[in-house]
Amino acid sequence: MSQTTEAGFSIQTIGVVGAGTMGNGIAQVAARAGFKVILRDVKDEFLQRGMAAVDKSLQRDVDKERLKEEEKRAVISRIQTVTEMDALSLADLVVEAVTEDVNVKAGVFRQLDKITKPEAILASNTSSISITKLGAATDRPEKVIGMHFMNPVPVMKLVEIIRGLATSDETYNVVRDLTLKLEKTPLECNDMPGFVSNRVLMPMINEAIFALYENVATRESIDGIMKLGMNHPMGPLTLADFIGLDVCLAILNVLHEGLGDPKYRPCPLLKRYVDAGWLGRKTGRGFYEY
Ligand code: NAD
Repeated sequence: MSQTTEAGFSIQTIGVVGAGTMGNGIAQVAARAGFKVILRDVKDEFLQRGMAAVDKSLQRDVDKERLKEEEKRAVISRIQTVTEMDALSLADLVVEAVTEDVNVKAGVFRQLDKITKPEAILASNTSSISITKLGAATDRPEKVIGMHFMNPVPVMKLVEIIRGLATSDETYNVVRDLTLKLEKTPLECNDMPGFVSNRVLMPMINEAIFALYENVATRESIDGIMKLGMNHPMGPLTLADFIGLDVCLAILNVLHEGLGDPKYRPCPLLKRYVDAGWLGRKTGRGFYEY
């Protein structure tokens, strides 16, 4: 697969930095769409874990006869795993999906800016960090953009495309067309705290936590009312446990600090749960027990 841009620049190889939950999903959808993928993480064991997740996800499609065994092998063969950053010099576009920490991400963007070809586009899968700030860590802010995939990546159709202050129309158009090639739906927004997805979702989750905190209803009632009454696939407290309560708290802090409006203040109950290490599904306890 290759994609030729308006400027005649062709995307054939996609780099992915970080082989965790999101990175291995992004590598999988890119390889499945026919692109060559270079997947980078800091240790071999993280790459192996990421590739095991790709294998398991593709095998599910083979079992359901949505993919042939040889197609699965071909998809996997298009993903090259590497620990050295320099291997990404061959990429035409890189999606960064490392830990949600502004210093770590800015460091990755600085490195990518040095080693990738000048025309390469640098995208971030961040949930809440400023794309404008990541662009400023490079000498090519016009080529820096947000590509916010949703979890689980192979299943979820949306990619929120975030334009930083300096992102060019050319970069936006290339990334929009690429997203369509990945069989996803691109929807555009500007770089403001929480973008659209988390700016709308997190206040709803926070309000559900306040409702629990103020004893308006039980956790089951709050979730049941939102699920049955609003036709949501799961209630907000269940969803918070799925996302991770530490992640919810971090995003609410970004909204609160970034927008300066007290309506985004995180509920004290959420802070207490995070202090207790009750982070949701991943620790076996959040608003529910697992
Ligand atoms: P994760 O912890 O599962 O994976 C992060 C990976 O990045 C780890 O394997 C880690 O070893 C690796 N890493 C850290 N520094 C690195 C570096 N310098 N070079 C290469 N690899 C490095 O995290 P995740 O859930 O996949 O999240 C990744 C990004 O995606 C975050 O910005 C997060 O906010 C965003 N995101 C997450 C979700 C979600 O539901 N998990 C949804 C949307 C967006």
